[in-house]
Amino acid sequence: MEKESLKPAGKNWRHNETVVIHADGRKGGPVSPPIYYTATFEAEDSADFAKMAGTPRHPEYYTRYGNPVHERAAKILAELEGTETALLTGSGMGAISTTLLALLRAGDHVIAQTRHYMSTAKIMDEMLPRFGVEVTIVEQSDIHAFEEAIRPNTKLIMVETPANPTLVITDLRAVVNLARPRGILVAADNTFASPINQRPHDFGVDIVIHSVTKYLGGHHDITAGAICTSEQLAEQIWRTHTSIGSVLSPMDAWLLLRGLRTLPMRVERINANALALAEFLEEQPQIEQVFYPGLPSHPQHDLAKSQMSGFGAVIAFAIKGGYKATERFVASLQLSLNAVSLGGVDSLAVHTAAMWGGVMTEEQMKVAGIPPNFVRYSVGVEHIEDLKQDVWQALQQI
Ligand SMILES: *Cc1c(COP(=O)(O)O)cnc(C)c1O
Repeated sequence: MEKESLKPAGKNWRHNETVVIHADGRKGGPVSPPIYYTATFEAEDSADFAKMAGTPRHPEYYTRYGNPVHERAAKILAELEGTETALLTGSGMGAISTTLLALLRAGDHVIAQTRHYMSTAKIMDEMLPRFGVEVTIVEQSDIHAFEEAIRPNTKLIMVETPANPTLVITDLRAVVNLARPRGILVAADNTFASPINQRPHDFGVDIVIHSVTKYLGGHHDITAGAICTSEQLAEQIWRTHTSIGSVLSPMDAWLLLRGLRTLPMRVERINANALALAEFLEEQPQIEQVFYPGLPSHPQHDLAKSQMSGFGAVIAFAIKGGYKATERFVASLQLSLNAVSLGGVDSLAVHTAAMWGGVMTEEQMKVAGIPPNFVRYSVGVEHIEDLKQDVWQALQQI
């Protein structure tokens, strides 16, 4: 290749496949990094001790404050999301609660979505109001609803896209365009997309949050979270983080690092599998409706295409025949496991109404907005023909 045609060296041109292998700066020493399985680190002398405990944050002082393995994984996450830096937490909810508690105070106003991850919705509905923070919940597919909800004391807009249960999309560019000129911060839960499929910071989102438990860990073995943002906001959030103590263990940080090395490959396979399975499901006579942002039938397909480069693992679909038929379908699946979570190597399927089935009638569920015939399927990395076969045979059982 001609020298002129090579892109300049540096972190701005690297592809995701290279970032996950090299962004943590391995040079010399062990190829697989050691696990710093320690709660505390010894200082050289008093001056060094004072530096370690203070800001800017230091990776070797006390593991609640940081740890070299966390630092390595965080470097990869920050480069994948295009942010200056990243912080790791002990869970996705740890990342969300820490961010909110760090940035908000009594008298502030927050705008959040009708559809959020269930525990995020609980924080918005129950916890923030207890601390004197007002919350307005808006229908996230309606950008005018965001605009109308803005008040002089609006501090933060929290978005999540795609979101359960119908994989509804929030227009990231439009939300940022409302927030930026008014000095309002935007935080995006990017869990359902992964940084491989969507980079909210490219559209101006200030804080990108992940449940690392999902795609980034990728193997359904760790619970972890991440906050990807600017150095300035990270320093502020980190100060709260050290007090709240949502810490990731060094072992889990190491498992995350190992998981990250294959993230782009896994997501590429998952995207292809999920699109193929969604198309297959749409053709089956037992299926009432399929929700997948990658399908032209998704009501926000064009918006999804404009901000996502792939559409992720999760397909939601409705089975003809109601609760019982859906229950039988899920029970008949032989490959995918009947478990919550998403974005890992294993396919997982859940009957979303099942947890309510014992206490509510089908009619009551309808009123409560819980479709009795919904399946949420997170497509894994198995061979697509085997997944199709499995779904097909389970449909014949209903
Ligand atoms: C799973 C999930 C969370 C919570 O993450 P944990 O790691 O389970 O605490 C938050 N948001 C979304 C969108 C999720 O899927």
